[in-house]
Amino acid sequence: MNEYTNKRQQMVDLQIVARGIKDQRVIAAMRKVPRHLFLDEALRSQAYEDYPSPIGERQTISQPYIVALMTELLQLKGNEKVLEIGTGSGYQTAILAELAEQVFSVERLPTLAKKARKLIDELKYTNVVITVKDGSTGWKEHSPYDAIIVTAAAPYEPRSLLEQLKVGGRLVIPIGDEYSQDLILYTKEEDGTYSKENYGGCRFVKLIGEEGWKT
Ligand code: SAH
Repeated sequence: MNEYTNKRQQMVDLQIVARGIKDQRVIAAMRKVPRHLFLDEALRSQAYEDYPSPIGERQTISQPYIVALMTELLQLKGNEKVLEIGTGSGYQTAILAELAEQVFSVERLPTLAKKARKLIDELKYTNVVITVKDGSTGWKEHSPYDAIIVTAAAPYEPRSLLEQLKVGGRLVIPIGDEYSQDLILYTKEEDGTYSKENYGGCRFVKLIGEEGWKT
């Protein structure tokens, strides 16, 4: 076991399992994916700490617990088509690639998308498609999705994303102002309505685009 493997197992025990994450597949994915590779070399020593870290372009990789919580809320079994908005470093993308059949991921900043693509390829995930565009309106071409995860903060309920869910599909998204948000889980019901549950406070960088912040 190398130094990072050790730190990663500790991170999962202390930050993920101890705080109540129960989905065994999520826990296994977090034990496996080498989170340190998604950070620049100078920051790798903090890859398994209990906080978000910078990934360039004034963006951040989420705190490990938040990644686990949002992923658990999607209840993935392995046969799903998932849409991710905000590829960033690609770490959350890799976790999703471990747990679902197909992952479509959207990033607005080309430099981040390019780096993430390279790493996802090096780690040999073959079920991930990454594109560069405004994801605040989703990615209609591949819809409907079993699950949608947005890893940037939205100012209001995202109409297009809700419309791109299958019946029974789930959308997890932080909604609020630019300083703090609530983590909201929407589920599309049989009758076409959406149920909504609040999983508490969080803080993400802004979702910028047509159905997000303007700047
Ligand atoms: N899940 C990422 C976290 C990235 S931070 C990780 O694990 O590293 C949020 C990301 O959302 C940033 O990379 C930002 O550029 C991106 N983003 C913001 N608005 C967006 C939009 N409208 N469409 C796609 N990506 C967006």
